[in-house]
Amino acid sequence: MDTTRTAPRALATEAVHAGRDDLARQGLHAPPIDLSTTYPSYDSRGEAARVDAFATTGAELDGPPVYGRLGNPTVARFETALARLEGTEAAVAFASGMAALSAVLLARASMGLRHVVAVRPLYGCSDHLLTAGLLGSEVTWTDPAGIADALRPDTGLVIVESPANPTLAELDLRAVAHACGNVPLLADNTFATPVLQRPAEQGARFVLHSATKYLGGHGDVLAGVVACDEEFAGRLRQVRFATGGVLHPLAGYLLLRGLSTLPVRVRVASANAAELARRLSEDPRVARVHYPRIGGAMIAFEVHGDPHALIAAVRLITPAVSLGSVDSLIQHPASISHRIVDAEDRRGAGVSDRLLRLSVGLEDVDDLWADLDGALARAEAEGAAPVPAEAGGTVG
Ligand SMILES: *Cc1c(COP(=O)(O)O)cnc(C)c1O
Repeated sequence: MDTTRTAPRALATEAVHAGRDDLARQGLHAPPIDLSTTYPSYDSRGEAARVDAFATTGAELDGPPVYGRLGNPTVARFETALARLEGTEAAVAFASGMAALSAVLLARASMGLRHVVAVRPLYGCSDHLLTAGLLGSEVTWTDPAGIADALRPDTGLVIVESPANPTLAELDLRAVAHACGNVPLLADNTFATPVLQRPAEQGARFVLHSATKYLGGHGDVLAGVVACDEEFAGRLRQVRFATGGVLHPLAGYLLLRGLSTLPVRVRVASANAAELARRLSEDPRVARVHYPRIGGAMIAFEVHGDPHALIAAVRLITPAVSLGSVDSLIQHPASISHRIVDAEDRRGAGVSDRLLRLSVGLEDVDDLWADLDGALARAEAEGAAPVPAEAGGTVG
């Protein structure tokens, strides 16, 4: 694939062209989908050298592909494009966001660096993976100010999310990266997307996405990706090859297509979300609204009434876990996305039992408000529980 670069291009341009640079020369417009699991080769001596090279560095193979688990040309187009959008040398795609995080943890552990420092809240399953030590890692939870003191000689990674799932808490990534010293910072950029924030420019060495969310953008692809330098990408490709968490080529195609509308989707959904956050924060039935300073299409809010009644009452908005689709979704983190986190840890991270997480889509904002308004009325009518004392009407 042609990776020659000319002058830097704007994000909106990269979104529709990156990963497609060779198409016109090939006489194509839409990217081809290569579904091969294996590839013919009459030169096994040559293959031996190529396999050796991969085993040494994990660099993408020169020449034709060998086997689907080693790399796929359609998936590589998505990786090229995402790296371009995040401003990193490389990106490595996986079967899901959790597969991507697992590969990072395994790659660091394979270097003898099993200790992880992490800041809550994280996405519930990321929290669980670390807390349960399922991959043999040991985690120290801290706040941003405690990161430097939590580092040990065997610390392989610092993990943060900003804005965080589900509270939308924001961190100063530059300051966090500074506190990490030589330890790589992994920033989960799923919520912000490279349209709103490029963590690599602020010092994050690894940028992780659940591509299932905004990058795919239509609720029909499960995927994960890590944007990073080429050296670590090589380790990740080796882990992916050995553990098998590969992305299917059809998913790679859909993700590349998703990227082309990412800036437009994020802009429109964010405008909707900002307006809904404003209306919610002025509504007496709403105790608290969390909407990030950098904007975005996610809102978290707490109601005075019964959050379960609100979930049961929406009609246009879909009551469902996940986020980042063209249509709006709402869910109750304490019941679903963050259920797997110990209740005390969850509440300590700001995930109250009254919190609702809304992923705002591309519908008309007044239609969305009409639905929310009706659901808020139901929550108010059925809400028997007392109002928490700390509740205020702030956007924060
Ligand atoms: C959904 C999510 C993940 C996990 O991604 P999957 O694609 O569901 O495996 C990780 N981080 C964040 C912030 C998420 O929202």
